[in-house]
Amino acid sequence: LADNQQRYETIVKTLQQHQHKLTPQRLAIVRILAASVGHPTADAVYSQLKKDFPTMSLATVYRNIQLIKSLGEVLELGFADGSNRYDGNKPYPHPHLVCTLCAKITDPDLESLEKMKAELASETGYEVLTHRLDFFGICPDCQAETRGD
Ligand SMILES: [Zn+2]
Ligand SMILES: [Zn+2]
Repeated sequence: LADNQQRYETIVKTLQQHQHKLTPQRLAIVRILAASVGHPTADAVYSQLKKDFPTMSLATVYRNIQLIKSLGEVLELGFADGSNRYDGNKPYPHPHLVCTLCAKITDPDLESLEKMKAELASETGYEVLTHRLDFFGICPDCQAETRGD
């Protein structure tokens, strides 16, 4: 994982470079996206902040996430059920591991990814620009729970 504080500062710097105001609300959203614990939905970001910012709306959270996404500082993971998740900690394409029981998303470190990209390119002749790689399964926590320990 990238350093949360470093990611926070990078996103803030990018916002400044594009002349976007650094309101306390916006900075609080950036703080959560920089850590992206479990890859939150916009809803999850909103519920973490509404105690501190009671007047803030979910629409404001969405707008800010879209703004930060347009600057290339957050990765959006779209899912068919519309519950998009966000990763501002690693804003570039990387593999994800999705728990189908608790919906937690983690970032596995796959050493074979570079090899896989090279193999794809040589097999197909494609110039591979990006990728989307999701693995679905049951996380260790949920496995322990279903075992009852
Ligand atoms: Zn789980
Ligand atoms: Zn991720």
